[in-house]
This record gives sequence, C-alpha cells and structure tokens, in this order.
Amino acid sequence: MTTEQIPPPQRLLMGPGPTNADPRVLRAMSAPLVGQYDPAMTGYMNETMELYRQAFRTRNQATLLVDGTSGAGIEAALVSLNEPGDRVLVPIFGRFGHLPKEIAGRCGAEVHVREVEWGQVFTPSAIERAIAATRPKLLALVQGDTSTTMNQPLEEIGQICRRLGVLFYTDVTATLGGNVFEMDLWGLDAATSGLQKCLAGPSGSSPVSLSPRAAEVVNGRRHVEAGIADGSAPVGTRIASNYFDLAMIMDYWGQARLNHHTEATSMLYAARECARLLAAEGIDNAVARHRLHGEAMLAGLRGMGLEVFGDVVHKMNNVVAVRIPDGVDGDAARTALLEDYGIEIGTSFGPLHGKVWRIGTMGYNARKDAVMPTLAAMEQMLRSAGAAVVAGGGTGAAREIYQDARLPAGARA
Ligand SMILES: *Cc1c(COP(=O)(O)O)cnc(C)c1O
Repeated sequence: MTTEQIPPPQRLLMGPGPTNADPRVLRAMSAPLVGQYDPAMTGYMNETMELYRQAFRTRNQATLLVDGTSGAGIEAALVSLNEPGDRVLVPIFGRFGHLPKEIAGRCGAEVHVREVEWGQVFTPSAIERAIAATRPKLLALVQGDTSTTMNQPLEEIGQICRRLGVLFYTDVTATLGGNVFEMDLWGLDAATSGLQKCLAGPSGSSPVSLSPRAAEVVNGRRHVEAGIADGSAPVGTRIASNYFDLAMIMDYWGQARLNHHTEATSMLYAARECARLLAAEGIDNAVARHRLHGEAMLAGLRGMGLEVFGDVVHKMNNVVAVRIPDGVDGDAARTALLEDYGIEIGTSFGPLHGKVWRIGTMGYNARKDAVMPTLAAMEQMLRSAGAAVVAGGGTGAAREIYQDARLPAGARA
C-alpha cells in the first residue's frame, strides 16, 4: 500500500464549530519543537498563562492549558472540584448542559438539574431559587450553548453565588473571544474553554482558569495522599483522576514545574497564538467583529425568508439557528452545500434534529468574505431544493448591515 500525505479538501467551515483556523495559528503549530524544560518552553508557558488571563479577563494565577479538547478542561474542572456526596446544581438549556451533569454524576456528586425549553435562558432569580432549594457546593452553568445558540447571562449570577457561598463554574468554549465574558468582574470561580470556536484555532487544547477560592478547594484535596502517608487525617477525598488532577497540573505550570505530563508543545504554540491574536486585536474589538458578522448573517438568513430559532435577544454573536423550510431535506441540502460549494453548515441535536440548521460566524470566519458567499450559496442551494427564497434577499440584507456598520479601529475587518 502506498499512502500519500493527506490532501484535505478546501472547506469553508460555517457550522457551530470547528471553524477554519487562522493561518497564523497553523503556522505557529509548525514551529520547531523544544524540550519541556527548555527555558524557551517554560517562557512560552508563562506567556500563555498571561495571555489567557487577558482572554478570560482575570488575574487568577491558576490560568493554564489542559491538553485535550474542550471536554478535557470541563472534565478537569469538575473532577478536581467535586467530591463524592457534594451537591452540584446544573441548570441545562441545551445539549452542553448535559455534559457537566454527566461528569459530576460520575464523580459521585449529588446532581440537581433545572431545565428550560431549548431556545431560552435562565433568569438570575430562577437560578437563585434553585440554589436556595438545593444548597449546592458548585453551580455549573454553560455560557453559550451552540446546540440552541443561546448565550446565558452570567453577570448577576456570580454575586448570588458569592452571597450564598457557592462555587461558580462556567463552560465558555463556544463564547470566549466572540462574546463579552468577565471572569473576575462577574465573580466566576472556574472557567474552561477551547480553541476551535471564536479563538480561531484547531481543537485540542483547553484553556482553564481557577479563582484563588477554587484553587484552594482543589489544592485541599492533594493533602489526602500525604495525610495517608504520614498517618494524619485525610482531608476530603482524592481527586478521582490522575490526568485531569488540576492540583498536579498547577504544579506543572507553577514554579515547581513538577512533571505530570509532557505539555503538547505544538498545541501550546497554537493556543498561545490564538490568545496573542486576540490580545493584538483587542477583546472588545473581537467581540464587536463577531457581533457585526453575526448580525449580517442573521439579517441575511431572514432576508432570504428563513425563520430564526430561539430567543434572538439572547442569541450568541457567533452562531444562529434557522428552521429548515418545509419540504427541504435538511441533511441532503447540507450535503449539496458541501459538495457544490465546499461550505459546511451544522445539523442539530436532540429536539432540534431535522428541524434547524446552525450557521456559525466565528474566529477566522467572522469575516464579510465568509458571510456573503455562504448566504449566496445557501440561496442557490435552497432554490435547487425547491424552497421559496427571496431572490437576492440574503446577500442584500447582509450588505445593508455592512453598509451601516463601523467596526472599531483595530478590529480585524
Ligand atoms: C463546542 C463546544 C464544546 C466542545 O467540546 P470539545 O471537547 O472540544 O468537542 C464544549 N462546550 C460547548 C459549550 C461547546 O459549544
């Protein structure tokens, strides 16, 4: 068998993630490797920590990467914070809320769930009532759930958690860099992310930040082993994972540099470049850019005659869901878009499967020259599928948004 080097097809990835990586991120990944304790490498690690403090808008010392996809960061945070018997409250407003519920359950936590209908978010008072009723140690709440496109407001919830003595964890995988997120100002204790959404990188590295309060809880659980060794009373239970033990991972990223794993060097280069690009653009500018291109996509899809799903007031900047027109086979239409135009849009899960498509404008693809071809191609594709579309309605409506818009100086265009 002779096997050639892979020639992946050229695709414009306009689904809910992953998206095309910024070429600068891909270039950074091809840089030469260095040893894990090379001063150059430890320097890059320190710079990466500082760059992600800026991205998360935090001063948390414990801001680092967990090697693995976004799910690795989620798992590390939850397995390190949760002990068997701990009460955890998980308000669920889409598919990604089921993940913290599932992981906390595996940790032996007593998991309490609240749910709203897909397409809606929780009010702060509903969260407060649920906290009062369940008295959890931890609240685990997704910020942006790409399955429904909703962006859960978090800003008032941190104060509630502080007042009631609850640790507050959020998954910002789908939102960081494209929607406002203020880790310290909003009172978050733990946040985890990934690169493949608004940060314009590939999946495979998970930035994580822990507040001093959360780091203390995690570090408290490291004493168990020492306690057993010297016969003193164990404090709590040991973290039920070695690879995702954030106490050990903090030691690797901290002054001690205790080996725990070999940092995934090329992924660190990627993660560092994603955060460097975000800092160079300015977070406010990056959010404004995602807002503009998200608005143009929304206006374009509506201009075509499509109906948008969910409470648009709470829509994330970087993804929109539209109802598949009656009589159109959603999967066949997506395949046609991919084969004829090289454009990928997203299908949907659970209650929305077969009912909506999800279209993203994020990271490197939050650009006019990604939005306009997608709208033009969708219009043609829908017409071929026999759907009634307003001719030129999609691109025309998006063009109007662009004409009226002014991006702040410094935003990437
Ligand atoms: C996309 C997404 C993830 C993805 O996790 P991976 O492990 O990188 O596949 C996690 N959480 C949310 C909210 C997401 O939107």
